[in-house]
Amino acid sequence: MIAVPCHTPGLSRTALSKMGWLCSDTAQLRFDGVRVPVRYRLGAEGAGFRMIMGNFNGERLALSAMALGFAEACYDEALAWARQRNTFGAALIERQVIRHKLMDMQMRIQSTQAWLEALGARVDAGDEGTDWVANVCLLKNHATQAMQFCADAAVQILGGMGYMRGTVSERVYREVKVMMIGGGAEEIMKELAARQWNL
Ligand SMILES: Cc1cc2nc3c(=O)[nH]c(=O)nc-3n(C[C@H](O)[C@H](O)[C@H](O)COP(=O)(O)OP(=O)(O)OC[C@H]3O[C@@H](n4cnc5c(N)ncnc54)[C@H](O)[C@@H]3O)c2cc1C
Repeated sequence: MIAVPCHTPGLSRTALSKMGWLCSDTAQLRFDGVRVPVRYRLGAEGAGFRMIMGNFNGERLALSAMALGFAEACYDEALAWARQRNTFGAALIERQVIRHKLMDMQMRIQSTQAWLEALGARVDAGDEGTDWVANVCLLKNHATQAMQFCADAAVQILGGMGYMRGTVSERVYREVKVMMIGGGAEEIMKELAARQWNL
């Protein structure tokens, strides 16, 4: 693994136009005859991929926590809106179908939080166990599915307002797919977990 300073001759980049993560300057990088001194190497020669792998589980755990936060933000906005918005003579929260949507969100939020805390406690106790990687992979899927569900439900509860830039739920809705794909796509997470459990 090597660090390449961004003004190194031969390195050029083109910004990519994305659905979300707009403040993250993801770009295509081109290396044309780029030379860097050997002192810019990080770690031992040939150990780069192992170093990247060492980051995978922590990144997936962090993505799970982020997804939980996004899901909670959608719930909070949807609940506040449902209390304040009146249609046909009653607040939205008075409608059973709206309350049930909120409870469906809570089910996913609570289960994600419980799993995240249980796994975090295991790591803190130094007890990662043999199925640690499988748990991280499936938690990442569960958390990002919870986020997807909550973003969708919140936009629906907000109605037309949920489609507007400026609401939390609209913003979170646009961030769903990168959370489900980045850091390891859902299908790959399931494969890794299945492999660890010798399926
Ligand atoms: C905004 C953004 C920022 C990113 N930032 C980073 C970063 O900072 N660092 C970094 O390293 N990467 C980053 N990535 C890359 C990200 O990790 C990959 O996009 C992701 O791992 C999926 O890989 P891929 O795009 O090559 O999809 P592909 O591997 O082409 O997969 C496409 C689809 O096919 C499925 N699939 C692939 N193989 C199989 C299989 N064998 N069986 C079943 N299904 C399969 C996948 O699950 C996915 O649904 C970023 C991506 C995005 C969108």
